[in-house]
Amino acid sequence: MKKILVTGGAGFIGSHLCERLLNEGNEVICLDNYFTGSKKNIANLLKNPYFEIVRHDITMPYFIEVDEIYNLACPASPIHYQFNPIKTIKTSVMGAINMLGLAKRIKAKILQASTSEVYGDPLVHPQTEDYWGNCNPIGSRSCYDEGKRCAESLFMNYHHKNDVQIKIARIFNTYGPNMRPDDGRVVSNFIVQAIKDEDITIYGDGKQTRSFQYIDDLVEGLIRLMNSESSFIGPVNIGNPNEFTMIELAESIINITGSKSKITYHTLPEDDPMQRRPDISLAKKVLNKWEPKVQLNEGLKNTIEYFKEITI
Ligand code: NAD
Ligand code: UDP
Repeated sequence: MKKILVTGGAGFIGSHLCERLLNEGNEVICLDNYFTGSKKNIANLLKNPYFEIVRHDITMPYFIEVDEIYNLACPASPIHYQFNPIKTIKTSVMGAINMLGLAKRIKAKILQASTSEVYGDPLVHPQTEDYWGNCNPIGSRSCYDEGKRCAESLFMNYHHKNDVQIKIARIFNTYGPNMRPDDGRVVSNFIVQAIKDEDITIYGDGKQTRSFQYIDDLVEGLIRLMNSESSFIGPVNIGNPNEFTMIELAESIINITGSKSKITYHTLPEDDPMQRRPDISLAKKVLNKWEPKVQLNEGLKNTIEYFKEITI
């Protein structure tokens, strides 16, 4: 049995990761400040005596003895990470310093939830890990992109200078149950709108693309990365390479829900990337042939079921 700290454990991804780690027989400590996370996401885990929750903000140091740390704490939806951009930067940067300092002291292995946003509005397509990205350092997304880029730099430097065992995952757009109805990201927005027969809000002309990964595939990838060869530190893309326009996504959700919603078009937010698709060759090679198993329609059906239960 390993003792594992999951920061951001009450959030969308963190809650699924905590559940899976517990099911595999580990002891899990979930740390969260509940900015975007919810106790409801982890309520079903509380009956497990090997699960513990701690209210804490990772911009402050935290002391504990664990074998592994998954560092997920950070708001991930543009509306939430732009609500207090300075806090977002502090969470990524000071949070990384605090968690890396902890990992160094207790000799724990630590995994960083980085993001495809480090590629910005990418000029290389699909994105490979050796692409340095096209980010606007002063735009409204920079608090997130640059915070995550700085965190990657901190992880690499703690590894090279202080021998901390690290793993960096670059996560691409992920969706599934436990997203908040007001999360603001595209999949949850469209599903909630479709269920309520409200207008579907496409930003821009809807021809921009994203590649959507179902949560179970991501969790499998993260755990395989944590358990990968110690010489492998990443960064590695973890995403589903099937790419869709926002119009295609809206149409799929309308079809599955049988909604009467109409598609409407709104202003495209600043610096919104026009295309995004992971090259997952490296992940397949180093993560024991990992690849996404859940296709969009199946994942959407599960997610729609979840939103129907919580919104009706
Ligand atoms: P989320 O907003 O649902 O979860 C983030 C969690 O971190 C929440 O529970 C929140 O309360 C907590 N948190 C935020 N700031 C904190 C702080 N200062 N101290 C302690 N806890 C704090 O988002 P998510 O989609 O679950 O994302 C989890 C991680 O994965 C984030 O680091 C995000 O950047 C990364 N990621 C997610 C995606 C995606 O598509 N979901 C893509 C790329 C990267
Ligand atoms: N988007 C949209 N309607 C919405 C929410 C988002 O058209 O109600 C678009 C958004 O402009 C972007 C894409 O969907 O082009 C994905 O947005 P999301 O916030 O989910 O993720 P990110 O932009 O961070 O990849």
